[in-house]
Amino acid sequence: MFSSESAFVRGLEIGGKAPVRIQTMYDSAYSMADVDPIIDEINMLASIGCDIIRFSFSSKSDAEPFSKIVKRSPIPVVADIHFDYKLAILVLESGADKIRINPGNIGAEWKTREIVSAAKDRGAAIRIGLNSGSLPKDRKGTIAEIMSESALEYIDIFESMDFHNIVVSLKSSDGDETVDACTRFASLSGYPQHIGVTEAGSPVISAVRSTLALSKLLSASIGDTIRISMTGDRENEVIAARELLSSMKLRKRGVRIISCPRCGRNTFDTIAFEKKVRRRLLSIDKDISVAIMGCLVNGPGEAAAADYALTGFGNRVYLYRKGSLAASVSYDEAEDALFEAISNE
Ligand code: SF4
Repeated sequence: MFSSESAFVRGLEIGGKAPVRIQTMYDSAYSMADVDPIIDEINMLASIGCDIIRFSFSSKSDAEPFSKIVKRSPIPVVADIHFDYKLAILVLESGADKIRINPGNIGAEWKTREIVSAAKDRGAAIRIGLNSGSLPKDRKGTIAEIMSESALEYIDIFESMDFHNIVVSLKSSDGDETVDACTRFASLSGYPQHIGVTEAGSPVISAVRSTLALSKLLSASIGDTIRISMTGDRENEVIAARELLSSMKLRKRGVRIISCPRCGRNTFDTIAFEKKVRRRLLSIDKDISVAIMGCLVNGPGEAAAADYALTGFGNRVYLYRKGSLAASVSYDEAEDALFEAISNE
């Protein structure tokens, strides 16, 4: 969307005129026994807005399950490679749509060139991923200068081989450093950027830190893919990224959920109900708002602008459409009544 250049992962455009893409990462070791549950989870993540998923690839034994995951995944799969250029080539042979490397820890330049050559042969993209914690020690300058200039030097190597399917990520656990580095790089290069604050903490802390930094970048038209890294589960990473993009009107897709906070007037357990229906609502590909309101006194009025609203009293739940009462059902029937109304729209 924001960069002048594009990269393509399994045909999915990053940068150029494409919308900002959402990523998350699988964090555990995996074997063949894990492939089925991993694919189930990727399907769920894709249904709520995840565009790209990344895996680590740390040994030869990852090759078989990884290649199965790539074949069955509905979204492009990225492999994270550190230190060993042979693993990078193996993962490309295993079908990776993109790999993420830091050429600085791959070693001699010829090893990076071998990786670039293998990616070029297979039509895969490469993310040059630099973190503030693993930069060359002999460079002078600010973190932003060192990161952006190192990335440009690696790009020179890639371009000398006529390889342009490149994404760059410059990350720090410090939001300001991340903003400075990405802003500097954007002023020097048109290649797409994956942005995120790394090691951002537990879900609530990460959501705040990441939103503060990433919204500055996105407001300046910087960032073509994002990850909201959390010490927490992948589903929340995707939901947070999706919410940030839709709140900034950078991604109009799916349901906007409105729900009451903890409130002394609550006569309907909005917390339990929202949790019960959240994943299902977020997987609907309609641009609508759904309000889950806690009381009959203020709920319908406060939700009048929502396309659908639910509120309850005792054992009855009231379903509203555009502010008008549409149905009264039991608590157990409420979920089905809501989704039936939405699907009949
Ligand atoms: S609608 Fe009712 S329960 Fe919800 S925030 Fe307002 S007063 Fe509280």
